[in-house]
Amino acid sequence: MTTKKRQPIVIAIDGPSASGKSTNARMVAKILNYLHVDTGAMYRTLGWYCLKNGIDVNDSLAVTKACRRWKATLQSSEGQVRLVVDGYYPAQEIRTSEVSAAVVHVAAVPKVREWMKRIQRECAQFGDLVMEGRDIGTNIFPESDFKYYLDAKIEERTRRRAAEGVTENLEARDRRDSQRATSPLMIALGARVINNSEMTAEQTSRLIIEDIEARLKLPRS
Ligand code: C5P
Repeated sequence: MTTKKRQPIVIAIDGPSASGKSTNARMVAKILNYLHVDTGAMYRTLGWYCLKNGIDVNDSLAVTKACRRWKATLQSSEGQVRLVVDGYYPAQEIRTSEVSAAVVHVAAVPKVREWMKRIQRECAQFGDLVMEGRDIGTNIFPESDFKYYLDAKIEERTRRRAAEGVTENLEARDRRDSQRATSPLMIALGARVINNSEMTAEQTSRLIIEDIEARLKLPRS
């Protein structure tokens, strides 16, 4: 008798910049023992790659070509699935203000989003996932039963970024992410919206975990 392998579970966490996605996605993944996927890092890596190779991020044709040609593959290690370029993960390089300014342009290119969708769906080959981004619940894994949309007041989000040592016009980036034509930032149908302006990361991730455990009928952790 053959037993049918169950489909991997994908927890989708979306929301604007500095809404606590990364911290909470990491915490939830650790508690559930799922793999964490930061899809923002994937777009940032393409932005970094373009800057490094002198590709104009405003030239969507050139960005599309670069995305078709770059040697980017998935790698699962230390509880994460990451996109590596020629085997290298540019952890520090993708967090600069230059990359933050470039990333919205590459992320708005339809062919790039097509490519990212394919690679991000392939992440499920590694196991159950907690995937964070802007369009995970709406576009990458719309079939997910576990969708969360995190948000916080702009003052609080700016304060969080500043505490990380990053000064950035978050409102401008959010506006671009919400207004682009292809898979803009939106609340997915059926997503649970959590405004965590007045909450700690522990409280936010506890809320998410309790919701998942109740729905998966798991014993409380
Ligand atoms: O999450 P993070 O702020 O690192 O994402 C960087 C940028 O990548 C976003 O501002 C957005 O332009 C793009 N992004 C996206 N779709 C995702 C994740 C990130 O367009 N799923």
